[in-house]
Amino acid sequence: MAGTIIDGKAFAAQLREKVGTLAAAFEEKAGRKAGLAVVLVGEDPASQVYVGSKGKATIAANMASFEHRLPDSTSEGELLSLVERLNADPAVDGILVQLPLPDHIDEQAVIAAIDPDKDVDGFHVTNAGRLAVGQSGFVPCTPLGCMMLLTDRLGDLSGLDAVVIGRSNIVGKPMAQLLLDANATVTIAHSRTKDLADVVRRADIVVAAVGRAEMVRADWIKPGATVIDVGINRLAPEPGASKGRLVGDVAFGEAREVAGAITPVPGGVGPMTIAVLLRNTLVAAHRNAGIDLPEGAI
Ligand code: NAD
Repeated sequence: MAGTIIDGKAFAAQLREKVGTLAAAFEEKAGRKAGLAVVLVGEDPASQVYVGSKGKATIAANMASFEHRLPDSTSEGELLSLVERLNADPAVDGILVQLPLPDHIDEQAVIAAIDPDKDVDGFHVTNAGRLAVGQSGFVPCTPLGCMMLLTDRLGDLSGLDAVVIGRSNIVGKPMAQLLLDANATVTIAHSRTKDLADVVRRADIVVAAVGRAEMVRADWIKPGATVIDVGINRLAPEPGASKGRLVGDVAFGEAREVAGAITPVPGGVGPMTIAVLLRNTLVAAHRNAGIDLPEGAI
């Protein structure tokens, strides 16, 4: 029997709705809306689309959206001063600087300038450190979204074998930390891993975050495993089509025949990222305003 499809789109819609309700309650208590500032430098078309959808989703969740679209010619100094102003602005609870930045700007310097308590993307070293030692901070949105899908599907992850393919700072490493925190036995595989298929075959949970179209095949998957596909890859267009299809890092059709459950691409992990960004902003707003957000509310 084919594995269950994990509907990230529906899960994300529910999460956004919950955040919206809690954000309205926050506004009542705090006398202001929770606020997210998004900064975009340059004209990268994909980034423009992401920033536009983040703004719309923020407003739909009863929060204030502050968009700063700066020209490609913006200097690092100018960007750092904007970040400083946003750090000091009490209406701004979360700050997100859309990556990638133009080559003349040092991304790490910009991330380091964000107040860690407004770093809703969870990229600041302080938040990476908090995650590593088990303190509460902000966790990058994509891996936190994957974790929500996993716990929703599996409940307790204690003792399960998890393989994360990919070791990036924004997906692979924080994903491994979260799984470890949930008492899974975690392996991080990457481009130098030997016998990757054999490593993946041991896993009860596979998280693929590589960026290689349909790399993970059905015969890499342990029967019944839960497969979370983070990859977003565009195939070459079919003859006559203007755009190629989007696929993940897992060969979905064949892997579904073996897996117990699997996320599709699109409609799996992707929609979770913005929903978790809103969730993180709501958490930041409560902390900044000194208002309790009931444990487990979100
Ligand atoms: P990255 O390029 O920073 O990291 C890729 C990782 O894959 C590296 O750690 C590398 O060691 C590993 N890798 C490369 N080739 C490999 C191979 N042949 N075998 C095993 N491992 C290999 O990428 P990233 O930012 O972590 O993103 C990974 C994928 O997830 C991309 O497709 C990206 O578009 C997607 N992504 C999706 C979302 C979302 O919202 N769904 C968010 C972030 C990233």
